Amino acid sequence: MKAIRRFTVRTVLPEPLRDLEELILNLRWSWHHETLDLFRAVDPALWEAVRHDPVRLLGEVSPERIGQLAADRRFLRRLRDAGDELHDYLTTDRWYQSLGGAPRAIAYFSPEYGITATLPQYSGGLGILAGDHLKTASDLGVPIIGVGLLYRHGYFTQSLSPDGWQLERYPPIDPNGLPLTLLREADGTPVRISIGLPQGHDLHAQVWLVRVGRVPQLLLDSDVEDNDQAARDITDRLYGGGGDHRLLQEMLLGIGGVRAIRAYCRITGHPAPEVFHTNEGHAGFLGLERIRELVSERGLAFGEALEATRAGTVFTTHTPVPAGIDRFPRELVRTYFGGVNEEPDVPVERILELGAEDYPGGDLTVFNMAVMGMRLAQRVNGVSLLHGEVSREMFGGLWGGFDTAEVPIGSVTNGVHAGTWVAREVLELAAREAPAVLGSEDGWDQVRQVDEEDIWAVRRTLRARLVEEARRRLRDSWRQRGASEAEVAWIDDALDPDVLTIGFARRVPSYKRLTLMMRDPDRLRALLLDPERPVQILIAGKAHPADEGGKRLIQDIVRFADGEDVRHRIVFLPDYDMSLGQSLVQGCDVWMNNPLRPLEACGTSGMKAALNGGLNLSVRDGWWDEWFDGQNGWAIPSADGLSAPDRRDDLEAAALYELIADHVATLFYDRDGGRAPRRWLEMVKHTIAGTGPKVLATRMLREYVERYYVPAADAGRAMAADDHAGARDLAAWKQRVAKAWPGVAVEHVESVGEDRMNVGARLPLRVVVALAGLDPADVAVEVAYGRVDDADALADPSYLELGGPEPLEDGRLRYVGDVPLERSGSFGYSVRVVPRHEGLATRAEMGLVALPPAPQGMADGVLR
Ligand SMILES: *Cc1c(COP(=O)(O)O)cnc(C)c1O
Repeated sequence: MKAIRRFTVRTVLPEPLRDLEELILNLRWSWHHETLDLFRAVDPALWEAVRHDPVRLLGEVSPERIGQLAADRRFLRRLRDAGDELHDYLTTDRWYQSLGGAPRAIAYFSPEYGITATLPQYSGGLGILAGDHLKTASDLGVPIIGVGLLYRHGYFTQSLSPDGWQLERYPPIDPNGLPLTLLREADGTPVRISIGLPQGHDLHAQVWLVRVGRVPQLLLDSDVEDNDQAARDITDRLYGGGGDHRLLQEMLLGIGGVRAIRAYCRITGHPAPEVFHTNEGHAGFLGLERIRELVSERGLAFGEALEATRAGTVFTTHTPVPAGIDRFPRELVRTYFGGVNEEPDVPVERILELGAEDYPGGDLTVFNMAVMGMRLAQRVNGVSLLHGEVSREMFGGLWGGFDTAEVPIGSVTNGVHAGTWVAREVLELAAREAPAVLGSEDGWDQVRQVDEEDIWAVRRTLRARLVEEARRRLRDSWRQRGASEAEVAWIDDALDPDVLTIGFARRVPSYKRLTLMMRDPDRLRALLLDPERPVQILIAGKAHPADEGGKRLIQDIVRFADGEDVRHRIVFLPDYDMSLGQSLVQGCDVWMNNPLRPLEACGTSGMKAALNGGLNLSVRDGWWDEWFDGQNGWAIPSADGLSAPDRRDDLEAAALYELIADHVATLFYDRDGGRAPRRWLEMVKHTIAGTGPKVLATRMLREYVERYYVPAADAGRAMAADDHAGARDLAAWKQRVAKAWPGVAVEHVESVGEDRMNVGARLPLRVVVALAGLDPADVAVEVAYGRVDDADALADPSYLELGGPEPLEDGRLRYVGDVPLERSGSFGYSVRVVPRHEGLATRAEMGLVALPPAPQGMADGVLR
């Protein structure tokens, strides 16, 4: 049944039940069990039938039941309590309110959001992370405004053909049947956002407002009557089409998104964002729109507006997989931002430079959205320590001349929103036995005191619930694939609530290797059917609709799992979404992950499992590389040095089978006479106590606030003060420095006393540099020193600024300083000149460096 319209809901509810509507319109319910209980109480059977969707619940509940509730004093009391509780949650001070000088508002842009399964506006990790980010911002009181698109068909619904091939459906959503409201002007007319198109007409959009606790989320929607059909279809589906379609989506998200924020702040009086956080390149055009604003409204030149914009922008890169990075033909971008659509004083050539791969190995015919994102943001980060490293390697060309370690890309390891992903039973056990952990990142050692039998009882409950849920989904899938009632009878006994349960659920790009576990089918069969220590495996995942290879992998799994000998122990559950994800991460004993290292930027599903008392069995990639400690799960050895992919898969699969048989299953079934596996539960407790607090999204968000948002706001304020004097100054300075830089040189390096080198001594240096007319204050002359490797490269050097510039003839300068000899063994040093300005966030920011003529500089300084 199609959901009824929201205004109809409003008229149906009698006065005493009005608060229900406010509760439904704030998605806080998606992580608040008491509110969900209240919805269930409206009509428990219907609540199950509408799959926990409160808007549908109200649309379908009978008028008689509504009448009963309106007269039910107990229900009304609960309703009032829930309303009061929500009001308190929305208005009382939280962590962020204790900070001084933090940004008044932060805009967060993402092409997808996973907030609840009833709002299918996500495809995978990026969207789920964005949803968790908003919810956590709400919990911590961080004043974020979320910006995205509302896709009329969301992401597809997956089912299977009789022979196991993925089928996709795009059921349309009706925004009126979702917990959204239209953003309206004070006079009630819906807000209209428009952006220019090259054909000379405009693309229009309306804006839906979603309340995620305290956080407003704005979703642009081009399906409005002012647009022709093609324009109406721009927001038809997530990551739809190629070329133009995708580019238009991203223009609407970035440019339209900034305009939607301006409208929202104008209408509501909300403070304007001081920081803009761009998730992946897709939203990158937001920087161009802010440049345009400053140029046309404040009279700044392009370069000045660029500095002002960059200072307050944070860019997060989310993938090292090239296919995950948006690249458009350069000429397409020229078409859309040039011609009649070119803004005065925002020349299309300057825009094209921002996305140009003008570094060794780059492709000059493309416009790279990640590259533009990095040039439009002064602060850039990856999403785990390892991914930070990989990103510095991958994008190092943008800062040529600097060692990879100095490439200004940091990292904030992702986290997960506990309220969304942790099973209620686990939260209740924690509230009883380890209350310190709730809402905190400290005191988690309390978990170590919890009785193992209690934990085991909860784990059994969650596993049994997952088995029930899996049977229901399996039955639906078999019926849908054409099986008769008799043919699905076996499913009543499929899976077993007491068997070691392994989960494997993820999108199906090739690097995630869905079918690695089937490398040796006989070996897998033996593990599943082991008479003493059987395992059962639950698998889920969607292949991208255009990815035939991925669909073939799914088919391989399904065909294997259809086998009569194993089908009670291995199942493929179609339509992986947040709801299935919740059941899986809560009910599985082991969460398995075998990506091709290092292509998993972070991964978050294993974190969700860990918080629920699951153990990870994973290749050391993403977050697991960082926090695997030898006792919180198992590391599948990675043969990532091997270039032969087949051989690599063979080796890693063999290691996986061995780990499962000899370690995982052995430990799980080691009952030591008792009911609960004591040593297993020791590992579970160790995982929750040690790893639990690290994987929380609250930890992640605090890091973003402290390490990225606050410094970005400070930098943005410094640029904006006094009618943007800071931005004007920095732009002029950068131009002057860049122009002079080819003449900057380290001409001579000289040290005395290299024959008496003892630890603790200091090596005096004299360095002659040419500054090509720059002022000494414009540069730093630094000595880099430390251990050298066999190729005479400085490994992880320290830097020390040289002092005393003393003018010599011809405008040259002499710098002096002492190199501290801090360690014995091979030691070396080199010297460099880098630009220096208080508006720069790092030495490497401009990508400019002058080094001594090679190899003399290093050879001189290497001592053996
Ligand atoms: C958590 C989650 C993801 C992301 O998990 P990965 O570990 O990155 O694969 C994707 N989809 C759903 C439904 C999730 O819940």
